Amino acid sequence: MANSKYEYVKSFEQPDILLPNTWIVVRIDGRGFHKLSDYYAFKKPNDRRALDLMNAAAVEVMNDLPDLCIAYGISDEYSFVFHPSCELFERRNSKLVTTVVSSFTAHYIHQWNSYFSSTPLQPRYLPSFDGRAVIYPNTQILRDYMSWRQVDCHINNLYNTTFWTMVLQGGMNNTDAEQELKGTVSADKNEILFKRFGINYNNELEIYKKGSVVYRQYELQDPNPVQTSVDDDDGSGASSVVPGSKPSRSQQDKLRKLRRKARVVVDHVDIIKDEFWDRRPWILS
Ligand code: ATP
Ligand code: ATP
Ligand code: MG
Ligand code: MG
Ligand code: MG
Ligand code: MG
Ligand code: MG
Repeated sequence: MANSKYEYVKSFEQPDILLPNTWIVVRIDGRGFHKLSDYYAFKKPNDRRALDLMNAAAVEVMNDLPDLCIAYGISDEYSFVFHPSCELFERRNSKLVTTVVSSFTAHYIHQWNSYFSSTPLQPRYLPSFDGRAVIYPNTQILRDYMSWRQVDCHINNLYNTTFWTMVLQGGMNNTDAEQELKGTVSADKNEILFKRFGINYNNELEIYKKGSVVYRQYELQDPNPVQTSVDDDDGSGASSVVPGSKPSRSQQDKLRKLRRKARVVVDHVDIIKDEFWDRRPWILS
Protein backbone atom coordinates (compact mmCIF):
# COMPACT_ATOMS: atom_id res chain seq x y z
CA MET A 1 0.00 0.00 0.00
CA ALA A 2 2.70 2.47 1.00
CA ASN A 3 5.21 4.12 -1.33
CA SER A 4 3.61 3.66 -4.71
CA LYS A 5 4.74 5.99 -7.48
CA TYR A 6 1.41 7.76 -7.15
CA GLU A 7 1.90 8.74 -3.56
CA TYR A 8 3.37 12.13 -4.41
CA VAL A 9 -0.20 13.39 -5.02
CA LYS A 10 -0.63 13.44 -1.24
CA SER A 11 1.63 16.52 -1.16
CA PHE A 12 -1.10 18.50 -2.92
CA GLU A 13 -3.24 18.39 0.22
CA GLN A 14 -3.17 21.70 2.06
CA PRO A 15 -2.75 21.81 5.83
CA ASP A 16 -5.78 23.29 7.58
CA ILE A 17 -4.94 23.02 11.26
CA LEU A 18 -6.83 25.54 13.39
CA LEU A 19 -4.80 27.83 15.63
CA PRO A 20 -3.98 26.07 18.94
CA ASN A 21 -5.48 27.08 22.25
CA THR A 22 -8.48 28.89 20.76
CA TRP A 23 -12.20 28.17 20.96
CA ILE A 24 -13.49 26.44 17.83
CA VAL A 25 -17.10 27.03 16.83
CA VAL A 26 -18.57 24.88 14.08
CA ARG A 27 -21.79 26.47 12.87
CA ILE A 28 -24.04 24.43 10.66
CA ASP A 29 -27.07 25.73 8.77
CA GLY A 30 -29.84 24.00 6.84
CA ARG A 31 -29.56 24.34 3.09
CA GLY A 32 -32.61 25.94 1.51
CA PHE A 33 -34.77 25.44 4.59
CA HIS A 34 -37.06 28.24 3.53
CA LYS A 35 -38.23 26.01 0.66
CA LEU A 36 -37.87 22.79 2.61
CA SER A 37 -40.04 24.14 5.43
CA ASP A 38 -42.73 25.03 2.87
CA TYR A 39 -42.48 21.61 1.24
CA TYR A 40 -43.01 19.75 4.52
CA ALA A 41 -45.52 22.33 5.76
CA PHE A 42 -43.67 23.63 8.83
CA LYS A 43 -46.01 25.76 10.95
CA LYS A 44 -45.26 29.50 10.83
CA PRO A 45 -43.59 31.29 12.45
CA ASN A 46 -42.28 28.42 14.62
CA ASP A 47 -42.77 24.74 14.01
CA ARG A 48 -42.12 23.13 17.37
CA ARG A 49 -41.50 19.70 15.82
CA ALA A 50 -38.73 21.10 13.62
CA LEU A 51 -37.01 22.72 16.60
CA ASP A 52 -37.32 19.57 18.71
CA LEU A 53 -35.81 17.55 15.85
CA MET A 54 -32.89 20.01 15.54
CA ASN A 55 -32.34 19.69 19.31
CA ALA A 56 -32.54 15.88 19.26
CA ALA A 57 -29.89 15.76 16.52
CA ALA A 58 -27.68 18.22 18.45
CA VAL A 59 -27.90 16.07 21.59
CA GLU A 60 -26.70 13.06 19.59
CA VAL A 61 -23.80 15.07 18.15
CA MET A 62 -22.81 15.99 21.73
CA ASN A 63 -22.97 12.28 22.60
CA ASP A 64 -20.89 11.36 19.54
CA LEU A 65 -18.22 14.00 20.24
CA PRO A 66 -17.26 14.33 23.92
CA ASP A 67 -14.84 17.14 23.01
CA LEU A 68 -17.82 19.47 22.59
CA CYS A 69 -18.56 21.77 25.57
CA ILE A 70 -21.83 23.36 24.53
CA ALA A 71 -24.08 23.95 21.54
CA TYR A 72 -26.65 26.61 20.73
CA GLY A 73 -29.42 26.36 18.17
CA ILE A 74 -31.99 28.61 16.51
CA SER A 75 -34.13 28.08 13.42
CA ASP A 76 -32.18 25.79 11.03
CA GLU A 77 -28.75 26.50 12.52
CA TYR A 78 -26.62 25.08 15.33
CA SER A 79 -23.30 26.25 16.77
CA PHE A 80 -21.07 23.56 18.30
CA VAL A 81 -18.26 24.70 20.58
CA PHE A 82 -14.96 22.83 21.01
CA HIS A 83 -12.74 23.67 23.97
CA PRO A 84 -9.33 25.38 23.36
CA SER A 85 -7.63 22.20 24.60
CA CYS A 86 -9.42 20.09 21.98
CA GLU A 87 -7.02 17.93 19.93
CA LEU A 88 -9.63 15.98 17.98
CA PHE A 89 -8.35 15.27 14.43
CA GLU A 90 -5.28 17.35 15.38
CA ARG A 91 -7.67 20.34 15.06
CA ARG A 92 -7.94 19.91 11.31
CA ASN A 93 -10.62 22.28 10.04
CA SER A 94 -12.16 20.12 7.33
CA LYS A 95 -12.18 16.99 9.51
CA LEU A 96 -13.97 18.79 12.35
CA VAL A 97 -16.54 20.54 10.16
CA THR A 98 -17.40 17.56 7.99
CA THR A 99 -17.70 15.24 10.99
CA VAL A 100 -20.08 17.60 12.80
CA VAL A 101 -22.15 18.25 9.67
CA SER A 102 -22.50 14.62 8.65
CA SER A 103 -23.14 13.39 12.18
CA PHE A 104 -25.83 16.04 12.63
CA THR A 105 -27.41 15.34 9.25
CA ALA A 106 -27.42 11.57 9.86
CA HIS A 107 -29.24 11.97 13.18
CA TYR A 108 -31.63 14.60 11.78
CA ILE A 109 -32.71 12.28 8.99
CA HIS A 110 -32.72 9.22 11.22
CA GLN A 111 -35.13 10.87 13.67
CA TRP A 112 -37.29 12.73 11.15
CA ASN A 113 -40.17 10.24 11.36
CA SER A 114 -40.42 10.58 15.14
CA TYR A 115 -41.21 14.28 14.73
CA PHE A 116 -42.89 14.41 11.30
CA SER A 117 -44.77 11.11 11.16
CA SER A 118 -47.44 12.52 8.84
CA THR A 119 -44.93 13.90 6.30
CA PRO A 120 -42.23 11.31 5.58
CA LEU A 121 -39.05 12.48 3.84
CA GLN A 122 -39.16 12.39 0.06
CA PRO A 123 -35.96 11.34 -1.75
CA ARG A 124 -36.14 14.39 -3.99
CA TYR A 125 -36.30 16.71 -0.98
CA LEU A 126 -33.78 15.55 1.61
CA PRO A 127 -32.46 17.89 4.32
CA SER A 128 -28.77 18.77 4.16
CA PHE A 129 -26.56 21.20 6.05
CA ASP A 130 -23.53 23.34 5.35
CA GLY A 131 -20.92 24.14 7.97
CA ARG A 132 -17.92 26.30 8.80
CA ALA A 133 -15.42 26.57 11.61
CA VAL A 134 -14.46 29.88 13.19
CA ILE A 135 -11.90 30.27 15.96
CA TYR A 136 -12.23 32.74 18.82
CA PRO A 137 -9.13 33.71 20.76
CA ASN A 138 -10.60 34.09 24.25
CA THR A 139 -13.59 33.29 26.40
CA GLN A 140 -14.99 36.82 26.31
CA ILE A 141 -15.15 36.75 22.53
CA LEU A 142 -16.69 33.28 22.59
CA ARG A 143 -19.33 34.60 25.02
CA ASP A 144 -19.94 37.53 22.65
CA TYR A 145 -20.38 35.07 19.79
CA MET A 146 -23.01 33.14 21.78
CA SER A 147 -24.71 36.42 22.74
CA TRP A 148 -24.74 37.47 19.09
CA ARG A 149 -26.62 34.31 18.10
CA GLN A 150 -29.12 34.70 20.95
CA VAL A 151 -29.78 38.35 20.12
CA ASP A 152 -30.36 37.24 16.53
CA CYS A 153 -32.84 34.67 17.78
CA HIS A 154 -34.76 37.35 19.67
CA ILE A 155 -34.78 39.87 16.81
CA ASN A 156 -35.86 37.29 14.22
CA ASN A 157 -38.49 35.75 16.47
CA LEU A 158 -40.08 39.08 17.36
CA TYR A 159 -40.20 40.01 13.67
CA ASN A 160 -41.52 36.61 12.55
CA THR A 161 -44.10 36.43 15.34
CA THR A 162 -45.43 39.89 14.45
CA PHE A 163 -45.34 39.26 10.70
CA TRP A 164 -47.16 35.92 10.87
CA THR A 165 -49.72 37.22 13.37
CA MET A 166 -50.53 40.09 11.00
CA VAL A 167 -50.89 37.61 8.13
CA LEU A 168 -52.56 34.64 9.83
CA GLN A 169 -54.75 36.45 12.37
CA GLY A 170 -54.95 39.91 10.82
CA GLY A 171 -55.69 38.62 7.31
CA MET A 172 -53.05 40.90 5.74
CA ASN A 173 -51.16 39.76 2.67
CA ASN A 174 -47.42 39.14 2.99
CA THR A 175 -46.40 42.27 1.09
CA ASP A 176 -48.55 44.62 3.17
CA ALA A 177 -47.37 43.11 6.43
CA GLU A 178 -43.73 43.36 5.30
CA GLN A 179 -44.29 46.96 4.22
CA GLU A 180 -45.81 47.97 7.54
CA LEU A 181 -42.99 46.36 9.52
CA LYS A 182 -40.28 48.12 7.53
CA GLY A 183 -38.33 50.46 9.80
CA THR A 184 -40.13 49.45 13.00
CA VAL A 185 -38.24 48.92 16.25
CA SER A 186 -38.92 46.26 18.91
CA ALA A 187 -41.31 48.50 20.85
CA ASP A 188 -43.43 49.02 17.71
CA LYS A 189 -43.73 45.30 17.12
CA ASN A 190 -44.61 44.62 20.75
CA GLU A 191 -47.30 47.27 20.46
CA ILE A 192 -48.76 45.85 17.24
CA LEU A 193 -48.95 42.42 18.87
CA PHE A 194 -50.50 43.72 22.08
CA LYS A 195 -52.86 46.48 20.87
CA ARG A 196 -54.09 44.76 17.72
CA PHE A 197 -54.05 41.10 18.71
CA GLY A 198 -53.94 41.07 22.52
CA ILE A 199 -50.68 39.14 22.44
CA ASN A 200 -48.07 39.80 25.12
CA TYR A 201 -44.78 38.83 23.48
CA ASN A 202 -43.29 38.03 26.90
CA ASN A 203 -45.72 35.13 27.16
CA GLU A 204 -44.42 33.41 24.03
CA LEU A 205 -42.60 30.11 24.66
CA GLU A 206 -38.99 30.37 25.86
CA ILE A 207 -37.81 27.97 23.17
CA TYR A 208 -38.94 30.50 20.54
CA LYS A 209 -37.61 33.59 22.32
CA LYS A 210 -34.32 32.22 23.63
CA GLY A 211 -33.37 29.37 21.30
CA SER A 212 -31.89 26.12 22.63
CA VAL A 213 -28.76 25.54 24.69
CA VAL A 214 -27.36 22.02 24.84
CA TYR A 215 -24.75 21.11 27.45
CA ARG A 216 -23.58 18.42 29.84
CA GLN A 217 -25.33 18.39 33.19
CA TYR A 218 -23.51 17.29 36.32
CA GLU A 219 -25.04 16.81 39.74
CA LEU A 220 -24.14 19.83 41.78
CA GLN A 221 -23.16 18.73 45.26
CA ASP A 222 -21.72 22.04 46.35
CA PRO A 223 -23.33 25.07 44.75
CA ASN A 224 -20.09 27.04 45.08
CA PRO A 225 -19.97 28.91 41.77
CA VAL A 226 -16.19 29.31 41.73
CA GLN A 227 -15.37 25.64 41.91
CA THR A 228 -15.74 23.25 39.02
CA SER A 229 -18.50 20.78 39.73
CA VAL A 230 -17.16 17.94 37.63
CA ASP A 231 -17.13 15.27 40.32
CA ASP A 232 -13.80 13.57 40.64
CA ASP A 233 -15.54 10.38 41.61
CA ASP A 234 -12.80 8.04 40.46
CA GLY A 235 -10.10 9.89 42.35
CA SER A 236 -8.36 10.59 39.07
CA GLY A 237 -7.66 14.23 39.70
CA ALA A 238 -9.33 14.96 36.38
CA SER A 239 -11.22 17.94 37.83
CA SER A 240 -8.08 19.57 39.14
CA VAL A 241 -6.88 20.69 35.73
CA VAL A 242 -5.65 24.25 36.09
CA PRO A 243 -7.82 26.46 33.84
CA GLY A 244 -5.80 27.92 30.99
CA SER A 245 -3.04 25.33 31.23
CA LYS A 246 -2.97 22.50 28.75
CA PRO A 247 -4.17 19.29 30.42
CA SER A 248 -1.92 16.24 30.06
CA ARG A 249 -2.92 13.37 27.79
CA SER A 250 -4.19 11.28 30.69
CA GLN A 251 -6.06 14.23 32.20
CA GLN A 252 -7.69 14.78 28.82
CA ASP A 253 -8.70 11.13 28.61
CA LYS A 254 -10.23 11.30 32.11
CA LEU A 255 -12.10 14.49 31.26
CA ARG A 256 -13.39 12.91 28.07
CA LYS A 257 -14.60 9.89 30.07
CA LEU A 258 -16.42 12.17 32.54
CA ARG A 259 -17.98 14.08 29.66
CA ARG A 260 -19.09 10.88 28.00
CA LYS A 261 -20.87 9.79 31.18
CA ALA A 262 -22.65 13.10 31.77
CA ARG A 263 -26.26 13.60 30.77
CA VAL A 264 -26.76 16.02 27.87
CA VAL A 265 -29.62 18.44 28.48
CA VAL A 266 -31.53 21.01 26.41
CA ASP A 267 -32.41 24.36 27.98
CA HIS A 268 -34.08 27.54 26.77
CA VAL A 269 -32.47 30.22 28.88
CA ASP A 270 -30.56 33.49 28.73
CA ILE A 271 -26.92 32.92 27.85
CA ILE A 272 -26.05 36.61 27.50
CA LYS A 273 -25.97 37.42 31.22
CA ASP A 274 -23.32 35.90 33.50
CA GLU A 275 -25.73 33.82 35.56
CA PHE A 276 -25.98 30.85 33.20
CA TRP A 277 -22.19 30.51 33.02
CA ASP A 278 -21.54 31.24 36.72
CA ARG A 279 -23.88 28.45 37.76
CA ARG A 280 -22.29 25.95 35.38
CA PRO A 281 -18.57 26.69 35.64
CA TRP A 282 -17.58 23.34 34.10
CA ILE A 283 -18.91 24.30 30.67
CA LEU A 284 -16.12 26.71 29.83
CA SER A 285 -13.42 25.41 32.18
P1 ATP B 1 -29.62 28.96 3.09
O1 ATP B 1 -29.46 27.69 2.32
O2 ATP B 1 -28.88 30.10 2.51
O3 ATP B 1 -29.33 28.80 4.56
P2 ATP B 1 -32.38 29.02 3.92
O4 ATP B 1 -33.63 28.98 3.09
O5 ATP B 1 -32.10 27.83 4.76
O6 ATP B 1 -31.18 29.34 2.92
P3 ATP B 1 -32.07 30.61 6.33
O7 ATP B 1 -31.66 32.03 6.43
O8 ATP B 1 -31.13 29.60 6.88
O9 ATP B 1 -32.42 30.34 4.80
O10 ATP B 1 -33.46 30.52 7.04
C1 ATP B 1 -34.04 29.30 7.41
C2 ATP B 1 -35.53 29.33 7.10
O11 ATP B 1 -36.09 28.05 7.39
C3 ATP B 1 -36.31 30.31 7.96
O12 ATP B 1 -36.36 31.56 7.38
C4 ATP B 1 -37.68 29.66 8.02
O13 ATP B 1 -38.42 30.02 6.86
C5 ATP B 1 -37.38 28.18 7.92
N1 ATP B 1 -37.42 27.49 9.22
C6 ATP B 1 -36.35 26.97 9.89
N2 ATP B 1 -36.74 26.42 11.06
C7 ATP B 1 -38.07 26.60 11.15
C8 ATP B 1 -39.05 26.27 12.15
N3 ATP B 1 -38.73 25.63 13.28
N4 ATP B 1 -40.34 26.62 11.92
C9 ATP B 1 -40.68 27.26 10.79
N5 ATP B 1 -39.81 27.61 9.82
C10 ATP B 1 -38.51 27.29 9.99
P1 ATP C 1 -11.00 6.95 10.41
O1 ATP C 1 -12.14 7.46 11.22
O2 ATP C 1 -9.68 7.47 10.84
O3 ATP C 1 -11.23 7.10 8.92
P2 ATP C 1 -11.56 4.15 9.90
O4 ATP C 1 -11.78 3.03 10.85
O5 ATP C 1 -12.73 4.63 9.10
O6 ATP C 1 -10.93 5.38 10.73
P3 ATP C 1 -10.14 3.91 7.39
O7 ATP C 1 -8.67 4.03 7.12
O8 ATP C 1 -11.01 4.96 6.79
O9 ATP C 1 -10.34 3.75 8.95
O10 ATP C 1 -10.54 2.49 6.87
C1 ATP C 1 -11.86 2.08 6.70
C2 ATP C 1 -12.03 0.66 7.21
O11 ATP C 1 -13.41 0.32 7.11
C3 ATP C 1 -11.27 -0.39 6.44
O12 ATP C 1 -10.01 -0.60 6.96
C4 ATP C 1 -12.15 -1.60 6.62
O13 ATP C 1 -11.85 -2.25 7.85
C5 ATP C 1 -13.53 -1.04 6.75
N1 ATP C 1 -14.30 -1.08 5.49
C6 ATP C 1 -14.65 -0.05 4.72
N2 ATP C 1 -15.35 -0.42 3.66
C7 ATP C 1 -15.45 -1.76 3.75
C8 ATP C 1 -16.05 -2.76 2.93
N3 ATP C 1 -16.71 -2.45 1.82
N4 ATP C 1 -15.96 -4.04 3.34
C9 ATP C 1 -15.33 -4.37 4.47
N5 ATP C 1 -14.73 -3.47 5.29
C10 ATP C 1 -14.79 -2.19 4.93
MG1 MG D 1 -26.56 28.81 4.78
MG1 MG E 1 -30.50 27.77 6.10
MG1 MG F 1 -30.47 29.67 8.96
MG1 MG G 1 -10.95 5.36 4.63
MG1 MG H 1 -12.60 6.13 7.62
